[in-house]
Amino acid sequence: MARESPPPDVPGTASELAADRDAAREAVLDWYAEVHRDLPWRRTDDPYAILVSEVMLQQTQVARVVPRFEAWIDRWPTAADLAAADRRDVLGAWVGLGYNSRAVRLQDACAVVARDGWPEDARGLRALPGVGPYTAAAVASFAFGERIAAVDTNVVRISERLGLGGPDELLPADDRVPTWNQAAMELGAVVCRARSADCPRCPAARWCRSAGRVVVPPRAPSGSRTRFEDTDRYVRGRIVASLAGDEPWPDGIGPERLERALDGLVRDGLVTRTAAGPVLRGSGDDG
Ligand code: SF4
Repeated sequence: MARESPPPDVPGTASELAADRDAAREAVLDWYAEVHRDLPWRRTDDPYAILVSEVMLQQTQVARVVPRFEAWIDRWPTAADLAAADRRDVLGAWVGLGYNSRAVRLQDACAVVARDGWPEDARGLRALPGVGPYTAAAVASFAFGERIAAVDTNVVRISERLGLGGPDELLPADDRVPTWNQAAMELGAVVCRARSADCPRCPAARWCRSAGRVVVPPRAPSGSRTRFEDTDRYVRGRIVASLAGDEPWPDGIGPERLERALDGLVRDGLVTRTAAGPVLRGSGDDG
């Protein structure tokens, strides 16, 4: 869609900027209402379910998270249920969702919540184990309706490209802040992506300072990227999956790599070495 006003390098007056920002926000909210993906964590305001989804989404694609999230909530429906679970079960259920330490911190956060109740706002949520500024803002916004921008990389990118103000300035003045946070993330995830901007399909194109002008750097040659299977993270994942009873002990991995990965898991408090061999912490077998 062609831009109408103002031209890209002419900032315009403050009131023009504010008018463009309002118009772009409304267009994005309308677009979101029409096309957004129906995801299970968008149908709830339960802070526990939202926290689980946010932690799972930190490293895993949405389509893969959906069934894992639903199974997780079926198994541990509340923070208290997760807090009381055996850590071995928790780590076993986390296999394939990224760093195991995230599952540990999620369970630790739920233990605090089970003991003290939910913090009232993003500031309080940040004090929970493993909860950073983005996750705290997302939970505070989606569960408690707090007026706060949930700023992930998608939101940073679209606010920079739009050129209409920072994430805080883009927030609506009314009670649609949680919806705006979802809409901004959705726009960054499916239209204004890191490596491509689909400006002709973008609801904000008419007001965007970068429409049709986004240049993304070329990807590094594939030969220079390390295969996931060659990383220590992969080996750590295989060890945890095996100790959780989900897989046989990793095969075809050199003893030095295995030892290095085991040392890392012990250092992170996920695994204990016993006379009978390594076990997951909290599995009841670690003495
Ligand atoms: S997709 Fe294009 S028009 Fe839309 S926000 Fe990104 S750069 Fe602007």
